[in-house]
Amino acid sequence: MNTPDENSPDSGYRDFIRQIVDEDKATGKHGGHVATRFPPEPNGYLHIGHAKAICLNFGLAAEFSGICNLRFDDTNPAKEEQEYVEAIIEDIRWLGFDWKDRLYYASDYFLRMYECAVTLIENGLAYVDQLSADEIRAYRGTLTEPGKNSPYRERPPAESLDLFARMRAGEFPEGACVLRAKIDMASPNINMRDPALYRVKKASHHRTGDAWCIYPMYDYAHPLEDAFEGITHSLCTLEFEDHRPFYDWVVANCPTGATPRQIEFARLNLTYTVLSKRKLLLLVQEGHVKGWNDPRMPTLSGLRRRGFTPAAIRNFCERIGVAKRDSVVDVALLEHAVRDDLNRHAQRVMSVLKPLAVVIENYPEGLVEQFEVLVNPEDPAAGTRKVPFARTLFIERDDFREVPPPKYYRLFPGNEVRLRGAYFIVCKDVVKDDAGSVVELRCTYDPASRGGASPDGRKVKSTIHWTSAAHSVPATVRLYEPLFTRENPNDESEGLDWRAHLNPNSLVTIVDARVEAATAGLPAGTTVQFERLGYFCADTDTTPALPVFNRTITLKDSWAKIEKSRGGA
Ligand code: ATP
Ligand code: MG
Repeated sequence: MNTPDENSPDSGYRDFIRQIVDEDKATGKHGGHVATRFPPEPNGYLHIGHAKAICLNFGLAAEFSGICNLRFDDTNPAKEEQEYVEAIIEDIRWLGFDWKDRLYYASDYFLRMYECAVTLIENGLAYVDQLSADEIRAYRGTLTEPGKNSPYRERPPAESLDLFARMRAGEFPEGACVLRAKIDMASPNINMRDPALYRVKKASHHRTGDAWCIYPMYDYAHPLEDAFEGITHSLCTLEFEDHRPFYDWVVANCPTGATPRQIEFARLNLTYTVLSKRKLLLLVQEGHVKGWNDPRMPTLSGLRRRGFTPAAIRNFCERIGVAKRDSVVDVALLEHAVRDDLNRHAQRVMSVLKPLAVVIENYPEGLVEQFEVLVNPEDPAAGTRKVPFARTLFIERDDFREVPPPKYYRLFPGNEVRLRGAYFIVCKDVVKDDAGSVVELRCTYDPASRGGASPDGRKVKSTIHWTSAAHSVPATVRLYEPLFTRENPNDESEGLDWRAHLNPNSLVTIVDARVEAATAGLPAGTTVQFERLGYFCADTDTTPALPVFNRTITLKDSWAKIEKSRGGA
């Protein structure tokens, strides 16, 4: 990973992709133009790894006054769905990027791709092979042994043209024949040993319906899509490095007039997280989470529901940078970016997760005072708001101990603490139920400490949060932990399935928390800081009568500490 400092916007550091683009601009390649694309396959929801690719492609285009297209890579009819197309569009918009009117579908190019294939056949560069799939595999050779030519390899172009037309017309069942590029069965790169260009697939496509029963292979389709759109720099992840010679072969041999260049970068891996679409789909299908937008999922829709902001995700992507070597990024860095953004923008409120009733015995019955507090101490422009105070309150159960352990400064019998922004109180008595559990505290307040200021210079060692019983309502709060207990959940080395590392405590639901009436009415998607507890986002399930909040993240920032100990920012 690049160090975060390297990637700060004013460090002047240029990653290897920006260096390439700088050079192309300087030499006038592509007329100095920069065109990129983000090419998702609509077979799942976007995740934080895709965010890296989105920020890179759209970011690069913006920096070089170029363009970035959104293109659905929908060449495989089997697993693709319209639901995914819509979710992907929503997620990229939410992240803050705009492709203007350049929304494309690979399936719109099926005819042009077909015509390119015909040209390849005519030029003796492709042939219809009628070996079975097993035979093709056996003929392919291995990493150490060259492959063998198919007996159909030297058939005349006219024969292949006829067969290819008949493939398209639906005359052959799946697997009976494929169109292959004619390159070199002895190439040390297996991807160059006459790779398949087209296969028969009798499947309905979510956009083209039954118009086609042959579909192009990804490695053939992708360079053509780039070429048709005039893409200059085609950024993809490292696993495509060995496919680049074939990418270049397609570009060189198909009559498109364009010369896109493929550049590979390392994909994002995150600790405690799986980012394989296949695994994310299994998590949903097997019910380990409640859908693609479950707030525990690393999907953009899950992170959004959890309360992560687009700005935080974009900052994270900028800080991790791009490199040519695979690495694993600490999820604490993502959380740091989220805290950093929410700290500056989230309004502060007082809510109580595990309420314990407090009656202020010397406070007048029926009196309600309104205390003025800052909406956000980090943002003076946000102003102040009023918090109602009354005789019966709730405090956090954890902020009271009947028998305090050493160094416990919060409330216990006889001890005085500050109620944030309100008064000093002393605990006088403890009320218990028949089972012996504490159900209520009887306290007194010092009227001279109004606003929470010490009346005579006497000190209290603790300030706790509270909420008025009559002015707050019950709320459901969902607390999250990482979905996996292992730093690398993909590790199956001990014979364990990756699902064995699922965290049984990844979701804890609290049903009887208390939030202020004003907080209860916040619209879904609003994130606030519950003072001393963390950042919480109103869930899509929330209603003023039954508020539901997701804990976005706690207040403690382990990444900030790591940075500090390194002598960083
Ligand atoms: P699949 O295995 O289904 O191909 P994919 O994650 O590559 O999954 P795509 O929809 O093809 O899914 O991805 C769209 C783009 O996002 C691709 O250009 C891909 O390289 C990029 N991308 C996907 N995952 C990551 C990741 N973890 N980090 C960075 N880029 C990624
Ligand atoms: Mg892919």
